[in-house]
Amino acid sequence: MSDAGREDIKALGREELGRALSGLGQPAYRTGQILAWLHARGVRSFDEMTDLPAALRAELAGRFDVNVPSLAECQVSRDGTRKYLWRLADGVTVESVGLPESDRLTVCFSTQAGCAMGCAFCATGRGGLVRDLVAGEMVDQVRLVAEDLGVRATGAVAMGQGEPFANYDATLAALRLMNSPDGLGIGARHLTVSTCGLPERIRAFASEPEQFTLAISLHSAVQATRDSLMPGVAGIPLGDLRRAVADYADRTGRRPTFEYALVGGVNDSAGELRALVAFCSGSLCHVNLIPANPVEGSGLRRAPADRGRVFAEALARAGVETSLRRERGADIDAACGQLRQRSG
Ligand code: SAH
Ligand code: SF4
Repeated sequence: MSDAGREDIKALGREELGRALSGLGQPAYRTGQILAWLHARGVRSFDEMTDLPAALRAELAGRFDVNVPSLAECQVSRDGTRKYLWRLADGVTVESVGLPESDRLTVCFSTQAGCAMGCAFCATGRGGLVRDLVAGEMVDQVRLVAEDLGVRATGAVAMGQGEPFANYDATLAALRLMNSPDGLGIGARHLTVSTCGLPERIRAFASEPEQFTLAISLHSAVQATRDSLMPGVAGIPLGDLRRAVADYADRTGRRPTFEYALVGGVNDSAGELRALVAFCSGSLCHVNLIPANPVEGSGLRRAPADRGRVFAEALARAGVETSLRRERGADIDAACGQLRQRSG
């Protein structure tokens, strides 16, 4: 809400906007028209919506604001990765990362300012949760990064700050707007949510009609290790998580990814590897091994490089599809887990 008590119109997903417009006596086609102005064209005011009747524009301007994040900072990595710090309408800041590659652009966006989960290896978690983002604040990150790079976004991943499934409805509304031809027109399979693994929300996600992609931050298949690395989900038995993910794969036919950041002396031992192989064997999944990125003050260190190869080979022998992620943007702290809250 602004000082005048107006709501940010981009906080509304398609359904909510449709209801608001029908309450104003507007025909159904107005919803798509307005969404296209807001998200496909990125206008900053109702005045720019030239195909709306002037009376409707005035009425909307009396009820709603059109908020657009402002760029506070942009850093460019040697490898072309760009990290953006955005200032939102209330002054809160969040980060996004643009990962251009030949004719593609993937944008890593935040779903919350900060995060309540407190994972030991993650810079975002160390600062706690500031607030949830609304749908438009997520879509805007992707649109503005694409604008800055002068290309279309071909993919987006909810892997910036925040836990998307702790802000489920807004995240789903944002993914739908990113997917829609009235919005960013990104294919559903190129829209990925990464979660710390909340089983009930994974089940809800499996029943959504779109073909969105799922990644789960696993980081250990040993309960005690995972509980200490990820205190926010320490109450969740690994068996429940495994079943929810297997049900997701059965129901959707899509292959979920387990993210596994190798932390030296914590989750890179032979015992951890055996547990990971047992956890993954026999279910449709992909394991993405990531060198843990350094986070100041965490006391955790990256596993030696050969551990990644040892893990990858053992998983492959067990028939588990595996990749070793190439690190990008580390020189500007834009790599996984390095996004943090700053005053700007
Ligand atoms: N909250 C969600 C999405 C944001 S975190 C989640 O946890 O999945 C995005 C990814 O970065 C997750 O896979 C997370 O586990 C990983 N990550 C966090 N800190 C990291 C670090 N220091 N090194 C490597 N990956 C990290
Ligand atoms: Fe939150 Fe994900 Fe970071 Fe954990 S890894 S603190 S869930 S953003």
